[in-house]
Amino acid sequence: MKNNLVQFKQIPAFTDNYLWVLEQNQQAWVVDPGDADPIIAFFEAQSITLKGILITHHHQDHIGGVVKLQEWAKNNGQVGYRTVGPLHPQITMLDQVLHQDDEVDIFPAVKLRVFEVPGHTLTHIAYYLPSGPHNLIPRLYCGDTLFAAGCGRLFEGSAEQMYHSLAYFKDLPDETLVCCAHEYTLSNLKFAGFVDSQNKDLLDWTLKAQQLRTSNQPTVPTTIGLEKKVNPFLRCDSESILQSAQLHAEKILPSPIEVLATIRLMKDSFK
Ligand SMILES: [Zn+2]
Repeated sequence: MKNNLVQFKQIPAFTDNYLWVLEQNQQAWVVDPGDADPIIAFFEAQSITLKGILITHHHQDHIGGVVKLQEWAKNNGQVGYRTVGPLHPQITMLDQVLHQDDEVDIFPAVKLRVFEVPGHTLTHIAYYLPSGPHNLIPRLYCGDTLFAAGCGRLFEGSAEQMYHSLAYFKDLPDETLVCCAHEYTLSNLKFAGFVDSQNKDLLDWTLKAQQLRTSNQPTVPTTIGLEKKVNPFLRCDSESILQSAQLHAEKILPSPIEVLATIRLMKDSFK
């Protein structure tokens, strides 16, 4: 017998991407299908039809499979699926452009809330599943904005924009699952350990994450509660990150935004 539970899956793609699937009653939404093939294989194996596609930003490893997935659904007689995402000239396949505080009805009584989170790109958005009568654990689909123990590179936006985007995430409930788009955790933890070397929670999580990767297990999703303890980009107001950033910049950094700008630059060249 089928049930009404929403199921969550993460499907690996390329070398280190995760494609996230939200499914109920054999109908599914996909977040950022950079590659359609693993999604189609999964859908065909499970007899799932496409309900919709959620795009966070325009980078190819996030949108590269959108057209192929839409065509697969169409060629299989599926109807009614929708593709939603942010405004960007390279995202041409949308049924609806999303903005701050928009809501996406993904299943009966299950809605995602949209945050505009510029920084990695200027029109990057994130999708948040708040708690509610559905009793699902809150989830954040944050694309390339927040990673486990890291944040996205500033390709288009400023450190100030990234700071405010990450501030949205910090305010979410601690139990919120952080469904980021890449398995970058170990290299992020190496840098985090460099700028926050006395952080016991960080040391503990590094050991755990190493064990997970050694046995080929994903380290994500993590939680907002954990990220607040170990992620240097969410801890720019902490004394330890401030000291590390000032040591590197060789000057006083009067605001957490300047701390973030400094450690983001450090991370860009960190080996
Ligand atoms: Zn990206």
